[in-house]
Formats: sequence, structure tokens, C-alpha cells
Amino acid sequence: MNPISHLSPRPHFCSRTNRNKMERQEQQKASRLVFVLYPSQGHINPMLQLATILHSKGFSITIIHPKFNSPNSSNYPEFTFIPISDNLPESQDSFGDIFGIVSALNKNCEGPLTECIQQMLKAEDPQDRLSCIVYDSVMHFSQSVADHLKLPGISVRTGPAATMFAFAVCPRLDEQGYISFLESMSLDGKSDLLSLLLKELAFSMKKFTAHGFLELRAAVTDSVQRCSALILNTVDFIEQEALTKVQELFSASAFTIGPFHKLTPTISSSLLKEDSHCISWLNKQAPKSVIYVSFGSVASIDEKELLETAWGLANCGQPFLWVVRPGLVRGSNCLELLPINFQDSVGERGCIVEWAPQKEVLANDAVGGFWSHCGWNSTLESICEGIPMLCRPFFGDQNVNRRYVCDVWNVGLELEEFERGKIEKAIKTLMVDTEGEEMRKKATHLKEKVELSLKEGGSCYNSLNDLAEKILSFRPNEDGASGPTSVFSC
Ligand code: UDP
Repeated sequence: MNPISHLSPRPHFCSRTNRNKMERQEQQKASRLVFVLYPSQGHINPMLQLATILHSKGFSITIIHPKFNSPNSSNYPEFTFIPISDNLPESQDSFGDIFGIVSALNKNCEGPLTECIQQMLKAEDPQDRLSCIVYDSVMHFSQSVADHLKLPGISVRTGPAATMFAFAVCPRLDEQGYISFLESMSLDGKSDLLSLLLKELAFSMKKFTAHGFLELRAAVTDSVQRCSALILNTVDFIEQEALTKVQELFSASAFTIGPFHKLTPTISSSLLKEDSHCISWLNKQAPKSVIYVSFGSVASIDEKELLETAWGLANCGQPFLWVVRPGLVRGSNCLELLPINFQDSVGERGCIVEWAPQKEVLANDAVGGFWSHCGWNSTLESICEGIPMLCRPFFGDQNVNRRYVCDVWNVGLELEEFERGKIEKAIKTLMVDTEGEEMRKKATHLKEKVELSLKEGGSCYNSLNDLAEKILSFRPNEDGASGPTSVFSC
């Protein structure tokens, strides 16, 4: 069943008079939402899922995106796609790190986005008026564009709520010298969640003292302080403490309508071509027997780590599906690095692809474990299918997500190092040994709880209807003026 089909308006929405209801429907038809994408796979996926969800609620959608990593528009025929100039050089290596790209996009795209939306406003059809700008929080300049054009801006956090809270408190932490204090704190799995998250952050911040990171977290916090609403791809009960903090820190209403991907039909927004032959391979494997291995779209490993991974998988005895994407080992053709005797020893027990239809893979009965870098999308996709995780985070929020999986939800375990013996042992614990039984049960239980949040009356269901109503309150005046003064009087 398409999950969208049962997401009808909440009772209080329905109980209005028929006239009000018809007016609302008319307004909704006339509302266009402009989405601004950040061009990375882990951000494009949730943003297009959110656009699809809001489209199913009756809103028209325009997707504005930098030319770099343009999404495939042909899978979304009902949306209008507009590329804008990003002025990024051909080789992104010249930026040094990810923060260089983020900073350049925020500087270079402001003019083109403003111009593009001004043109849309000029040519506006009264039956299809622009209602607000829905932007990835990383593209924080979009809030300034919204302010300048007197349009409401909605910031979308595609990662966990914990990082939104962290971004806001971080500047205060390092200014006040708390980093070394946090580092010296002795914590274990039983410590309270916020202490655990802050400790993770202290480590991440030590790594990223680069100007770009400091600039990004300050700018994101500032834009969220000015936005009209905040959308989070999370579920209330899995991040309750962090969400309470987010609500305390920011005045904008926060809508937790995740996991987005469970509210949309599976439409591919992959930048790389998905290799679906792995699904026919999966269909031949025993239930819960396969370990799926993927480190997402950005993380990279070195040649030694690739080989340790290969031998760990060969020795664990379980069938495995391994995503070895181009660039996983920087500057090398990864598949050529795998020795012939590895391929001979695994034979049909292993399936290697460059890119997989991940959501379909995780939903396949044959998959019993996910060795992941703990990107937020991968984490959500895994818990939604009740798959326990072997966590090997690389950077940023992946460390926080690992804490959630291993110490808060208790649905996974951590792999401490890329070493074949440790990999073999960890996979066995995750998937077959009695030691991992409790964790596997908890993963199934977590999946069931998330499913409840999506059903009528659940937190996600309610939040989505509240969000749709909030957006409708952004409607411009009848005289066409679209300033926030009139918007917020509703
Ligand atoms: N993904 C995929 N096929 C793959 C590997 C990943 O479709 O072979 C998708 C995955 O389903 C997720 C996204 O790519 O939606 C990765 O996002 P995540 O936040 O997990 O990690 P990132 O790539 O941002 O590090």
C-alpha cells in the first residue's frame, strides 16, 4: 500500500464547515513550494522525498538546485526543476574539504536564487502562487533570500535533531573552554544522552577547527533562528531529548515528519546508476542471512581497509552484498585492488555492486545485518526495516548516529577497527551468535514503534498534517502581497 494514501487530514481539519474545507482545498491547489537542494546524495534523497510528500498533500513543487550534482528530473515529471549557476570549478579538489564547497555554494548561489525567485514572482499565476521557500539547512543563504523577498523560509534538517541542537550550543562550548572539559569526562553507555552527544561533538569539533566548519554551524543556527518553520527528518520518540532542546533553543515550530522515505513511494533519486541485479541475487539467499555493506556516498577508505574488509567478509561465512562505489578508495579502481584468491574463496556467496537500490535491499527478507558508516539516511532506512547495524562512522553526525544505534536504541554494535578478525567476529555477533540476540529483538521492536508513528494518530502523521496547515497559513493576501506580517496573522 502506498503509505501516502492513508494520510488523510486530522479530525480537527475535517470537522470544519464544508465551505471552509473547500476554501482550504482551493488555497492548497494554489500554493507552490520552492525547494532549494544541497547537491549531495544524502541531502538530495530526503529533500526530494519531502517534496513528494508535500506534493501528495496538494502543493505544487519547484526544485531549484545548483548545477553541480544535478538530480535526475525525469523521475519527477510533476515537479519543475530549475538549475542555477553555482560557479564551482570543474575539480572540487581545489576546495580542500567539504566545508569549502558548502561555503562556496552559499556565496555563489545567493544572487542566482534571488534572481530566479524574483522572476517566478513576476510571472506568477494567481492560481499557482509561491507560498514559501523550503531549503536544506546547509543552504542557509536561502533564508536571507526569503527575508529579502519577504517570503517565509522553512529550514529542513536532513540529519538528526541532535546536530541542530549541537550546532546551536557549539559556539558557546568552545568560547567558554568546555571542549577540553567534555573530553575529560568519563562516559559510558549508561550516561545520559545529551552528555554522550556532547562528548561526540567535542571530538568532532577538535577535528574540524577549520574556519569553514565554524562558519557553517554559526550560519545554520542564525538562519534557523530566523526561519518560519523547521522540518526534521526524524521521529519524536527516537530523539525526544534532543528535540526538547531544539524546541527550547529555536522559536520556530519544529515539525518531525520523518522518516520521510516511509511516506513516499520508492522513486530513485540516485546520482549513480543503481545495479538491480543484486536484488535477484538477494532473492536466492536464505532469510536474514545476508550482511549488507555500504559506506554511503562520501566516505572513503584506504587500500588496506578495503582488503581487511574483503577478508573479513570472506571469513565471516555469511553471504554478503557489498557496495564498492567508484572513489571508495581515493584515486584507485577499487575492484582491481581485490585479489583473485578473494574472489575465488567467496564465489557466489558474495555480491559486489558499485551502487545498490539501498531501500529495496534493506527491505529484502534475505538481509539480516547492515554494516554502515551511519549516515542519517542509512540509519533511518535500517531501523525502519528492523535491521541491526554494525557501525563504523567516519565523520560529522555519523559519530552521533553511532551513539544512538549502539548506546541509546541498542540496535547495533560498533566496529572499532578495520581488521579482518574483528570484522568477522562483529558480523557473527550481529547476525548469528546468541550474544546479539537481544539486539536483534530490539531492532524488530524499534521498527514496530516507528511504524506506529506513521499510522493515523501517530506523531509523524499528526506532524505532517500540522505542517500542511502551517504552510497554508503562509498564503499571500488577496491583493497579492506576500509579506510575513499578513502571513503570520493567520
Ligand atoms: N544509497 C543508495 N545506494 C547505495 C548506497 C547508498 O541508494 O549503494 C543511498 C542510501 O539509501 C541513502 C543515501 O544513499 O539514502 C546515503 O545517505 P546517508 O545519509 O546514509 O549517507 P551519506 O552518503 O550522506 O554519507
